[in-house]
Amino acid sequence: MERILTGDRPTGSLHLGHFAGSLRNRVKLQDQYETFIIVADIQALTTHWETPELIRTNVREVTLDNIAAGLDPKKTSIFVQSMVPQIAELTVLFGLYTTVSRLKHNPTIKTEAKQYGFTDMTYGFLGYPVSQAADILFCRADLVPVGEDQLPHIEVTRFIARRFNELYSEVFPEPKAGVSEISRLIGLDGNTKMSKSLGNAIYLKDDSRTVKKKVMSAVTDPARIHKTDPGHPDICTIFAYHKAFNAMEVPEIEESCKKGTIGCVACKKNLIRKLEEILAPIRERRAEYDKPGVIEDILISGTARAAEAGAETMALVREAMHTNYWKER
Ligand code: ATP
Ligand code: MG
Repeated sequence: MERILTGDRPTGSLHLGHFAGSLRNRVKLQDQYETFIIVADIQALTTHWETPELIRTNVREVTLDNIAAGLDPKKTSIFVQSMVPQIAELTVLFGLYTTVSRLKHNPTIKTEAKQYGFTDMTYGFLGYPVSQAADILFCRADLVPVGEDQLPHIEVTRFIARRFNELYSEVFPEPKAGVSEISRLIGLDGNTKMSKSLGNAIYLKDDSRTVKKKVMSAVTDPARIHKTDPGHPDICTIFAYHKAFNAMEVPEIEESCKKGTIGCVACKKNLIRKLEEILAPIRERRAEYDKPGVIEDILISGTARAAEAGAETMALVREAMHTNYWKER
């Protein structure tokens, strides 16, 4: 069975952007692949090193979000990055032959550095794509389902795998990125990305009253004042959500919006109903698993399985790099 590695930074609760961009894809793929889900606490600390307690709280939250969205902890291994030591080992080794200029030219690093106001980048932040390559390659994953912002990082991972194989011996597959149809969901405020840090998100754990309030206050086409004004669905946030969560009705909604035969309020109410169909079962699963000790046990066994895969890979890596000085006793 081929392997998948994917996951999230525990910087906050997961939202509909994550659901459309990667979570629902993970849920589908878990039956076809051996799936590893990383809760990337070290990667989160590359931007949040001053608030480790926030990251700690969100390790549990993000795990619960994944399970609530439909990941089955019996089939998949959900694990904590910092508890798998082989990932840290590989990060050091991959850094030996990855140049600084390759990292500096990464467009996602540039965007995020600006977003966080990093003028003088730390070694850890500039190098997080190397650490992410280790997250992916420690289990020799074949496929990495992610949002569009992650594509430059997957390129770095593919380079690192290819170069390792050339330099030492064939240990790593060159993993492919799996981008879903909705690779970037826009925010409630019309910002290009729904994001934990921009306060423009509908969270998987929001109750129905909150969802209703958020949808009703979302920005739509500013040119539509009266219901009969012709609309421009291509610039409307609500239409983007219909595309992501109500694909069946999209042609009909597009036509009646352009003709001015459906008003924004009715269109929003329709969306709320569709979102509730998705979110209600997610809330139910959340309640089922949100009990003392349950998430911890899932992480402990997932992390043990990940460390097992890591140990197998490290044995091959040590042999390839001639660092297997003696057998472990
Ligand atoms: P952070 O600001 O902490 O980086 P994030 O919202 O970017 O948070 P991540 O944990 O970094 O979330 O990303 C998890 C996965 O979700 C990635 O594959 C990312 O591409 C995807 N993703 C995040 N936001 C969106 C969005 N608005 N639309 C589609 N995919 C998204
Ligand atoms: Mg991110």
